[in-house]
Amino acid sequence: MNFHILTLFPEMVQNTLKTSITGRAVNAGHLSINAVNIRDYAFNKHQSVDDYPYGGGAGMLMQAEPVYLAYEAVKEKIGGRRPRTVYLSPQGNVFNQKMAEEFSEEEDLILLCGHYEGIDERVLEEIVTDYVSIGDYVLTGGELPAMVMVDAISRLIPGVLHNDVSAEFESFQDNLLEYPQYSRPEDWRGKKVPPVLLSGHHANIERWRREQSIIRTYERRPDLLKKSCLTEKERLWFSQWLSENNEKTRSDSKSENED
Ligand code: SAM
Repeated sequence: MNFHILTLFPEMVQNTLKTSITGRAVNAGHLSINAVNIRDYAFNKHQSVDDYPYGGGAGMLMQAEPVYLAYEAVKEKIGGRRPRTVYLSPQGNVFNQKMAEEFSEEEDLILLCGHYEGIDERVLEEIVTDYVSIGDYVLTGGELPAMVMVDAISRLIPGVLHNDVSAEFESFQDNLLEYPQYSRPEDWRGKKVPPVLLSGHHANIERWRREQSIIRTYERRPDLLKKSCLTEKERLWFSQWLSENNEKTRSDSKSENED
């Protein structure tokens, strides 16, 4: 997969993405990062890319033409096709795992990073296919959001993670969070690894992990649990777990009140 990142700060994107797993994936040829400097397409004496917004207001706006020419350069490079083009914006749909999966099917993806107060609306209307936010807060630029997207999408591309199953059994698959995990030593400062994980009984381990995922999602992200697909057996088990735990909470708070 080829990521084309249109930005005023190409070195920020390149330096970060050449490290760790994304860097190895680039070296192995699983993906490419093409950071395009929008300023290279500003054909004025000072290579300026921003100007005051019409109608007044605080801050500067990125102008349409340099962004458009940078986009056209990518389009030409990939044989004239119009690739899916994401504008990173706090006004977009909030990025999630499902979107990462969908984007990972693309051969080429353009990520457009804004700065200052954003970008002239007319070029956005012309080239953008998707508006994506990484959360309900405002950052100074689109570079960090673009890198968040590249990271999340890359690890879904076959070959990028050494162990392909590790992307399959992670948080958000099936709208469940991942179960707790433990490594050596078996006893860390008196805290022991759950015995089932040492049993070697694969079916029991699988069942325990699935149950822990359900409990963890219930406790931390009940909104997700509502969207998950539990089997009939799991539903029965979970309602029993809930009634046992509600009873336990009631008796715990009763004894606390009595103390
Ligand atoms: N004036 C814009 C608004 O209110 O929608 C915000 C501009 S922001 C200061 C500058 C740039 O940062 C944006 O053009 C966008 O590319 C990026 N950005 C800021 N917050 C973001 C977020 N939550 N998700 C994705 N991109 C964001």
